[in-house]
Amino acid sequence: MIIKQIAQLGQPVLREVARKVDDPRAPVIQALIDDMLMTMADADGVGIAAPQVYEPLSLFIVASRPGPRYPYASQMGPTAMINPEILWVSDDTVKGWEGCLSIPGLRGLVPRHTRLGVRYFDRQGEVREEEYADFPARVFQHEFDHIQGIVFIDRIESTRDLVTEKEYMRSL
Ligand code: ZN
Repeated sequence: MIIKQIAQLGQPVLREVARKVDDPRAPVIQALIDDMLMTMADADGVGIAAPQVYEPLSLFIVASRPGPRYPYASQMGPTAMINPEILWVSDDTVKGWEGCLSIPGLRGLVPRHTRLGVRYFDRQGEVREEEYADFPARVFQHEFDHIQGIVFIDRIESTRDLVTEKEYMRSL
């Protein structure tokens, strides 16, 4: 396993629409997932998408865990999601703070659906259907955007909803 370089905003790979993974169980995909897990842990992230490590593939990891802003976020072991799809979303949305390993130094208030149903292949190649709410739902939507070439600052309603990470941390 290796810690990969994380693509920063401005790198074209972050703006590509990712292509589907042909075989979730292929050794090259398993190795990529292991590298992404290590890279995410090293960067203290709660999610990472393959395009962020320069691989424009429909694959990401969601790893919700409690934090200062989301003390009640469910503890969810890092889960690799391959060729994910959104099956349904709740009508209601809520704004919450997000950051991104590809956009260091900024935090933004991003509106997201509070609940959604999803389908993906796990790293064993099994199809899974799950429902997520609140923080895990937010992380899923953030990572799903990455495989469409979208980043969180595209979703904010006003530039006034952007703050520096330093000020964000000070306000906690
Ligand atoms: Zn991100």
